[in-house]
Amino acid sequence: MKYISTRGQGGAKSFQEVLLAGLAEDGGLYVPAELPRFDQDKIRSLRGLPYNELAFEVIQPFVAGEIPDAKLKGMIDDSYTTFAHEAVAPLTQLKSHQWIMELFHGPTLAFKDFALQLLGRLLDYTLTERGERAVVLGATSGDTGSAAIEGCRHSDAMDIFILHPYQRVSEFQRRQMTTVLDSSVNNIAVQGNFDDCQAMVKQCFADQSFLPESSGKKPRLVAVNSINWARIMAQVVYYFHAALELGGPDRAVSFSVPTGNFGDIFAGYIARGMGLPVDKLIVATNRNDILHRFFQSNDYRKQGLEHTLSPSMDIMVSSNFERLLFDLQDRDGNALAEQMATFEETGKLSVSEQRWQKVRELFDSSRTDNQDTCDAIKVIFDRTGYLADPHTVTAIRALEEVATDRRTPNVVLATAHPVKFPQAIEQAGLDAPKRPHHLKDLLDREERYEVLPNDLNAVKRFIQNHLT
Ligand SMILES: *Cc1c(COP(=O)(O)O)cnc(C)c1O
Repeated sequence: MKYISTRGQGGAKSFQEVLLAGLAEDGGLYVPAELPRFDQDKIRSLRGLPYNELAFEVIQPFVAGEIPDAKLKGMIDDSYTTFAHEAVAPLTQLKSHQWIMELFHGPTLAFKDFALQLLGRLLDYTLTERGERAVVLGATSGDTGSAAIEGCRHSDAMDIFILHPYQRVSEFQRRQMTTVLDSSVNNIAVQGNFDDCQAMVKQCFADQSFLPESSGKKPRLVAVNSINWARIMAQVVYYFHAALELGGPDRAVSFSVPTGNFGDIFAGYIARGMGLPVDKLIVATNRNDILHRFFQSNDYRKQGLEHTLSPSMDIMVSSNFERLLFDLQDRDGNALAEQMATFEETGKLSVSEQRWQKVRELFDSSRTDNQDTCDAIKVIFDRTGYLADPHTVTAIRALEEVATDRRTPNVVLATAHPVKFPQAIEQAGLDAPKRPHHLKDLLDREERYEVLPNDLNAVKRFIQNHLT
């Protein structure tokens, strides 16, 4: 399997090169040169497989020839045995034709564990095989940091540095990161906001000369944010899983997905591209609605950030959207590079009316503000007894707003456990749920983190002094 950049430069790359690189050198994102295709018989043959076995079947073609099957199988098995539910991604029926797929039974209670548990193991395998070391560097406003730490902490080949804005993540989310006391795990609380953290991470990637050599080799700087292709790949699996449970491939299924950076829902688009019958993909946003504006009026335009009750969807631009645009431009990297350059200059873009109509056949969208988030949490709980987190609820609401085929099963992706967001639950007038067993004593555990000024050199110095 070969991968190419959405901006057309740099030639084809292997899976492992793409895994280690994150972003392409031309500033684009990696996508498969050609998707593996499963015919209907092949998809039917996957019915009833346990999650880990299904995951192997879906993922194997993306890494074929680079990682031996037995090794890959082992990594996948290990990744999903860390989940606290035997079904890994259980489906719960909410009402007629509507199911919730719970993606929050992993170690950090958000869907990001699906990708980061596997990503950590793939990185560890690849680095060890090459005799290299890596520094994993990322910024987080909440869920990514803890999922990355849990995914990478057991590797001897990696040091992890996660920046979060000091006193601006919830106590629960901070403690999920800072109570991991392994010597390779470093949490930095930056006296600034999330954008400051992200800007410093970008600057570190742009100039890596601060990384010291050891035995003649520099460690690699590795990105674990959702532009990393391996994360998308791991997420494709649960779209197959849900569809197969609900009668696929012999009937199509629609998905409603709480969306920020367009990573999770893009995995659904890939599943469809591989042959899975998907009727609609519904993009659910909060007030940070750049995607909603694109899908409603072909107007992808950057606006200011709004802080909402669903913070993991608080974005100004959706980094993975470029991957969809690439297909919309008939995979013409030069045309896309031009379009992205214009976007960087003007902060807006649109596609031709014909292309937009085409993409609308598959995608629809909806936006939910804070008040509607609270109201919907309450109404759904009162009607069904189901407590949805403030991200998930945007996708449940979306199904009420957009037109879907009455006879198609609709699957809502539940991206976080409600216990992670007690503030929204309480604002909805409900009691915050109990913490799951493995996090019962989270508030009593010892924490370790470093508070640093909003200063790039301070962060670089800290990293230099804390490599293992
Ligand atoms: C990250 C996250 C999202 C958004 O996912 P994208 O892939 O960025 O669209 C939604 N909900 C939760 C709980 C998240 O952690």
